[in-house]
Amino acid sequence: SPIINIDKLSLSYGGDKYAINDVSAGIAKNKITAIMGPSGCGKSTLLRAINRMHELNPDTHNKGTIYLGKDDIYEMNPILLRRRIGMVFQRPNPFPTMSIYDNVIAGYLLNGIKLKRKEKDEIVEKSLREVGLWSEVKDSLHSRGTFLSGGQQQRLCIARTLAYTPEIILLDEPTSALDPIATAKIEDLLVKLKKDFTIVLVTHNMSQAARISDYSMFMYLGELVEYGKTKQMFTMP
Ligand code: ADP
Ligand code: ADP
Repeated sequence: SPIINIDKLSLSYGGDKYAINDVSAGIAKNKITAIMGPSGCGKSTLLRAINRMHELNPDTHNKGTIYLGKDDIYEMNPILLRRRIGMVFQRPNPFPTMSIYDNVIAGYLLNGIKLKRKEKDEIVEKSLREVGLWSEVKDSLHSRGTFLSGGQQQRLCIARTLAYTPEIILLDEPTSALDPIATAKIEDLLVKLKKDFTIVLVTHNMSQAARISDYSMFMYLGELVEYGKTKQMFTMP
């Protein structure tokens, strides 16, 4: 059964134009769901809606809702919601003044959650191992995250998200700023992570969606125009 249920959702940034127009969809647990479509069709708005990161004008006529399990996300505490739903952005964005170590546990640091030194060490090592970065950075944990290559920085950002133990990971074009080798590493990582997490991926890259996603959504002008199993959608009749 789906872990996220988008229920007749319409969202507007203002005026009478809807960035999301009457979208309904269930998102399956422990799968990768790719959201595709031309620039401006509403992919990013839909992704951000899932953890309420969209900055919508409350005066406009937003309709419908999203359920996380049985909970209506608009009735949840946003801090608790974001603990359950992590987000990774297009540009790797490690906190520039923080070390690699602190970047991994930034979710805890920024929310004032105190951990013992040993707990922190364990979270940092486990998360960096999960993203395949541990052996590359274990001797430089106290240098800045921004000294890493672009691909390493993006894996650090994924480690930061995993460290905060979400159920769902939203990624907005996570490889579009990366070279093909770094992209392939992230793709392999996402496939590995779906064992433990539900992944929703916005991508411009159809071959990427065909390679790694289980379900594909196609949007056009704010509407969900196609949705189904990726294998079936990318197979020629
Ligand atoms: P499986 O066969 O792997 O169990 P399903 O086909 O039952 O997977 O789909 C799992 C979930 O994915 C569904 O519960 C639904 O939320 C979502 N889903 C996939 N394709 C569609 C679709 N075309 N329309 C609506 N929901 C879909
Ligand atoms: P995509 O991710 O598919 O490129 P977006 O979700 O970014 O699409 O945008 C959907 C629509 O909402 C577009 O018409 C875009 O211009 C509009 N939009 C996006 N962000 C804002 C914003 N902050 N303020 C006003 N309009 C926005």
